[in-house]
Amino acid sequence: MVDFGFNIKKARSFNMSNNDFSKVKMMFEAVPSYRLCISCGGCTATCSARQFTNFDIRKVHNSFSRGLYVNLDKELQKCMLCGKCTLICPRGVNLRSLIIEMRQLLNSQSETL
Ligand code: SF4
Ligand code: SF4
Repeated sequence: MVDFGFNIKKARSFNMSNNDFSKVKMMFEAVPSYRLCISCGGCTATCSARQFTNFDIRKVHNSFSRGLYVNLDKELQKCMLCGKCTLICPRGVNLRSLIIEMRQLLNSQSETL
């Protein structure tokens, strides 16, 4: 097989119709710029925590926007809240506020379980 230097991942599909989007709606109100994300990955590419761990902030906020919350609170512990992602985001998403708000919403979720 020819090595092109990249791999094509298998297609992934999931049913979102039963997911709980209440926290996503709360997030859109708390951090309106979250709606502007185009999932470019700039935040992950420049993330300070990413240099030392496998933390992927784009993966985290994409999962959150789909109502997939499992393990996100644990992942978010890797973030140092340095704010670099907020500075480089081409869409002006306030990621630092987004992360703080996500932590609060996810903690309130685990308290009610
Ligand atoms: S850099 Fe901004 S637009 Fe790009 S994925 Fe991150 S939050 Fe979304
Ligand atoms: S605030 Fe968190 S997610 Fe953003 S660059 Fe810093 S460590 Fe990475």
